[in-house]
Formats: sequence, structure tokens, C-alpha cells
Amino acid sequence: ATFQEAGFPKEILAVCKNFQKPSPIQAQSWPIIMSGHDMVGIAATGSGKTLAFGLPALTQIKAQPPCKPGQPACLVLAPTRELAQQTAKVFDDAGDATGIKCVCVYGGGPKYLQKQEMKQSGFAVIVATPGRLRDFMNDGDVRLDRVTILILDEADRMLDLGFEPEIRAIAGATRADRQTVMFSATWPNSVQGLAAEFMTNPIKCRI
Ligand code: AMP
Repeated sequence: ATFQEAGFPKEILAVCKNFQKPSPIQAQSWPIIMSGHDMVGIAATGSGKTLAFGLPALTQIKAQPPCKPGQPACLVLAPTRELAQQTAKVFDDAGDATGIKCVCVYGGGPKYLQKQEMKQSGFAVIVATPGRLRDFMNDGDVRLDRVTILILDEADRMLDLGFEPEIRAIAGATRADRQTVMFSATWPNSVQGLAAEFMTNPIKCRI
């Protein structure tokens, strides 16, 4: 598989300019996510999973009208502040070439600066830990009814951390016709249940 075969617009393809070839999870995920299917990827950090979901998400955003303030088109849920920040950095770096803006919200610190950031105009991507995002939803700082692609990253860890109620509230606030992509390092019954509840005929891939 090559980067060109994935069908990304050239400014999105540019994000990969320093890489030789797609990683195995990217080669498997891209055609599935780009075709609009829901997908479960069983893959760990270090596999290149961030760009596996990131580049199709950016491509989908680019095909849509600009986002209104506080109404993102893409939501990435992550279990921890560290993973959220790491994922947001990948979107921020891509933003230099694509012009697509990303904000990152997470628990464990003051809300004020994150609220300020969300007031900036038209961020299309929000990367969030579930508890903090639910707080901001309840406070009316962000609306999820324009979210067309929902990514649940490290789903097994989110469940281990007890975020199932937050995930349910958050997913329920997104569009019913959204695309849903889930990554998990493991595939226990609990994660299978989450996939069954929030995804439509997902295609599963494992590396
Ligand atoms: P991730 O699993 O998304 O945390 O990515 C792990 C590391 O792999 C990051 O430093 C990425 O920049 C890098 N990476 C992602 N895709 C590729 C690729 N196709 N070739 C080489 N490195 C990559």
C-alpha cells in the first residue's frame, strides 16, 4: 500500500511526507474509514493509529462547510490527559498544512483557559477526556450535534477508568448518522459491548 492510494487531498497527504510507507494499521484502516464504514481497530500506541484515524477525519472535515464556534465536526475521546495532548499535537501539526483547527480539553486543571480556547472561532476537531468534555457540554460551552465522526481511542482504558457513563452521554449528543471509529489495545467483552452499542456494522481490523 502507498500513501497515494489512500485518496487524501494533497495538503493532508503532506502530513506523511517524512514517512516511507503506511504502517500496517494505517494500510488497513484508511480504505475502511474513507469509505464511511464504522471500524474497530485492535492496535496499541506506537502502531501509527493516530494518523490511521486522523487523516480520514481531516479529509472528511475538509469536505464539509466550516465549523461554527463551539460546534466541532470531529470528536476524539481519549482516556488520559497525556494521550489527549499527544493526539491533539498530531492534529495541531497537521493544521499547519490543512488550516483545520483543533482544541484539547482534559481534566485535572482549571477550566478557564480551555473555555477560552473553545470560544475561538471554528475549531473542527476536539480531543477530550470524557469527564471534562461532559462538564463543558453541561455548561453549554460546546455542542456535539455537528459531530460527523466520533473516535473512541484506547476504548479499553476508558472503560477501565470508569468512563462508560460519560461515553454514553457524549455519544448520545452527537449526530445519529455519524461515523464511529474505535481503537483498543485489547478486545474484552466490555469493549465488544461498547462497539455493539455505539457502532453500526463495524468492520474489525487487527494488526
Ligand atoms: P501512534 O501509534 O499514533 O502514537 O504513532 C507512533 C509514532 O509513529 C509517532 O511518532 C508517529 O509520528 C509515527 N508514525 C506514524 N505513522 C507512521 C508511518 N507511516 N511511518 C513511520 N512512522 C509513523
